[in-house]
Amino acid sequence: NGCISFLRENLLTILTVIGVLSGTLLGWTLRASGYQWTRRDVMYFQYPGELFLRMLKCLIVPLLVSSIVSAIGSLDLSLSGKVGLRAIIYYMTTTICAVMLGIALVTTIKPGKMSSDSFDGNVTTQKVVTKDTLTSDTLLDLIRNVFPENIAQATIESYRTKLSYDPNDNRTVKGHIETYKIEGSYQKGSNVLGLVCFSVVLGITLGKMGEQSRPLQNFFHSLSEAMMIITGWVIWLSPLGVFFLVTAKIMEIPSFSELVGRLGMYFMTVLLGLFLHGFGTLSVLFILATKKLPCRYIAKMGQVMATAFGTASSSATMPITIGCCDDMGLDPRITRFVIPIGATINMDGTALYEAVAAIFIAQLRKVDMSFGKIVAVSVTATAASIGAAGIPQAGLVTMVMVLDTVNLPAEDVSIILAVDWLLDRFRTTINVVCDALGAIIVASLSQGDIEKSRAIQNDREHATS
Ligand code: ASP
Repeated sequence: NGCISFLRENLLTILTVIGVLSGTLLGWTLRASGYQWTRRDVMYFQYPGELFLRMLKCLIVPLLVSSIVSAIGSLDLSLSGKVGLRAIIYYMTTTICAVMLGIALVTTIKPGKMSSDSFDGNVTTQKVVTKDTLTSDTLLDLIRNVFPENIAQATIESYRTKLSYDPNDNRTVKGHIETYKIEGSYQKGSNVLGLVCFSVVLGITLGKMGEQSRPLQNFFHSLSEAMMIITGWVIWLSPLGVFFLVTAKIMEIPSFSELVGRLGMYFMTVLLGLFLHGFGTLSVLFILATKKLPCRYIAKMGQVMATAFGTASSSATMPITIGCCDDMGLDPRITRFVIPIGATINMDGTALYEAVAAIFIAQLRKVDMSFGKIVAVSVTATAASIGAAGIPQAGLVTMVMVLDTVNLPAEDVSIILAVDWLLDRFRTTINVVCDALGAIIVASLSQGDIEKSRAIQNDREHATS
């Protein structure tokens, strides 16, 4: 009886995990069949998964904006300030812990020194970016994106500095002839960071306006509820969606040899770091903050983890993460406030991986890592994880900035490309688990304040009636 009720309660999670496993199995079998699969074949296999992903992605912008605005608007201001502060402290603490753990592991295991022989001192890279921008450009872009100049544009594009070659411009800078022109441009992909910032400000404003803001508050509240209802339908497609996404991914990977070959030690270092962070650091923080064991909660996150693994996108998983927190009975005003922000800026797995990867490449290139450089890597890895979009392999793009701090060229990211597709899935899983645990921690720390504010509200209502 107990077994049947367990199966019934966790049916979707079980099916989604089966989706991931059987997708892996089918992918392997199709590869092993010896048939030469073309890109077109893979595209057909991926197609149902692509549709699932598109449905989830379609929910991101309306859900993110409406959830943040309505959650902040419905909390009273001092309460939303406290909740926000707790969330930011949690995000920063966990990200810094992740980076430090990554650095400790990569400097003790030294995967780059182990693999440098197999690279024959001859590390080949391929050009992946036209011209690397400097760390400062990337940091400035990160902050620029927080302040979008056009909110409609922010839903489709984000800002990116580009250096373009201009032979006619030969101004001399510090004795060098600077022939690159710095230009701004917009690139595809919503500027989620800007949308988060705008929504927070709008939410606070509505909270301040009082009665006058009621129609807008109701609008955003209904929109957020409607998006969650749609999520509830889309979520039933996740077993099939992840099944096809994983199958197609396994089919299209050129080779698996790097997983156990030259990049094997690097891969294992990141994986070990992610594991220790998820089950060590986060669990300890969770116990300290909530005085409860995290296992029961992590077990309920199966659906979220399987989707994160299957889609490699924390933004696409966000609706499911919110749904999971709702199922756990957390206060929706807290989850709808902190989860969308967490999915955007809190990426512990990404931060850990950025630090490990940059130092791994430096070891491979025999670049000496002074203490100062390690500090620079930690700071930029943290910024890179905040700036990375919650989409597949976004961390690879922002890593250019981390490499730049140790004077490594942007094209060096191609060294780790061969195993990145798989690491991306593991780090995305840790990213979303960290967001969900954060919501539970913030909710538990804020419980007293919430009860107090509810009591004050009740008193006020009594007084007016
Ligand atoms: N795919 C990751 C995420 O969505 C970001 C990254 O590390 O590439 O969380």
